[in-house]
Amino acid sequence: RTLWVETTTHRYPIQIGSGLLQRLPSLLEEVGWTPERRLFVVTDTQVAPLYLKEAVTTLQQAGYTVGSVVFPAGESSKTLQTLEQMTGEALRQGLDRKSGILALGGGVVGDAAGFLAATFMRGIPFVQLPTTLLAHDSSVGGKVGVNHPLGKNMIGAFHQPDLVVFDVDTLKTLPSREIASGFAEVIKEALIWDETFVRWLEENRAGLMALDAARLVEAIAGGCRMKAEVVSQDEKESGLRAILNYGHTIGHALEAVAGYGQFTHGEAVAIGMVGEALLGERLGLTTNVSQRTQALIQSYGLPYQLPTTAEVDELLVAMRRDKKAAQGALTFVLPRGIGSVEIVKEVPEAAVRQVLTQLK
Ligand code: NAD
Ligand code: ZN
Repeated sequence: RTLWVETTTHRYPIQIGSGLLQRLPSLLEEVGWTPERRLFVVTDTQVAPLYLKEAVTTLQQAGYTVGSVVFPAGESSKTLQTLEQMTGEALRQGLDRKSGILALGGGVVGDAAGFLAATFMRGIPFVQLPTTLLAHDSSVGGKVGVNHPLGKNMIGAFHQPDLVVFDVDTLKTLPSREIASGFAEVIKEALIWDETFVRWLEENRAGLMALDAARLVEAIAGGCRMKAEVVSQDEKESGLRAILNYGHTIGHALEAVAGYGQFTHGEAVAIGMVGEALLGERLGLTTNVSQRTQALIQSYGLPYQLPTTAEVDELLVAMRRDKKAAQGALTFVLPRGIGSVEIVKEVPEAAVRQVLTQLK
């Protein structure tokens, strides 16, 4: 399955299917990469034992010179320190301006390796090889970066990949909690863009959760198509692209307050979408969205309530600190209905407070 991302400056394919890692050399060739280009695979300690050897061997057999670097799995590796270590390793292994980077892993690897590609010798090409369901989202769109102790994703760049290859076979080794979290972003994409896709997700839940390959390809393609359309219309997040933050104002605050780790990103966004659906209803933008949203989220095994220990005041502080809260006014992406959202500025704090209390 091939989709295309088109921006004013870039056009690149997203390949989604089974057995694609074995076909990597020919997929690279289709975007103009040849074995003269030295390759550098970036991955983490969890993914390396599963897929690194397969990827490197396949590429070497096609005549590529392939180096690699492996950093500890987890969000805590998404730092400038990791960037510096990767840069050192790339230099020691002889990478130059004509080399290419392959990001093999989840969103953490994609963001960090993509940022390495954006900064190494002022930028070299890279390819995303997502291995988590959530990474269908992070690997498309060109946002790359690392965290700062004062905030997530505070250091970064826009750097579009030359190619995205999503081999759905890699999802078989992904822990079920990570699978569910990935579905949270797919559900988000459906809820903001396409009611038909929402219905399809409702009807195909069992097959999807059983990782049926054909259905996974459909779901990932649906999510990527939606993301690709939004990115094509708004590459640098000046307007439309902000709708992708549905569920994220509450979600990010929850991640910040709970400390990274208690909830996965997808779980926090799942709770956030239920909360923001309730907020949309409370502000009179819509009716009857929160029930269906909650049922869908619940059916995919995702949380839909705040922990009873959650402090509403703390969450509000975290929301204002979030970079999306311009000048302290609370901005939300809120539903107009199932499959459609709008950006609402200056949401009254009292309404947010009521919804957060209701969400516990
Ligand atoms: P992740 O990369 O940490 O992966 C989750 C865990 O699964 C890790 O321990 C990883 O080692 C492991 N793993 C990965 N693939 C596996 C596989 N096939 N089998 C077994 N284990 C596997 O996290 P994630 O959820 O993929 O991504 C989260 C990150 O993505 C966050 O840092 C977030 O900021 C970022 N993100 C970026 C964008 C963007 O537009 N750039 C969008 C959304 C999220
Ligand atoms: Zn997200």
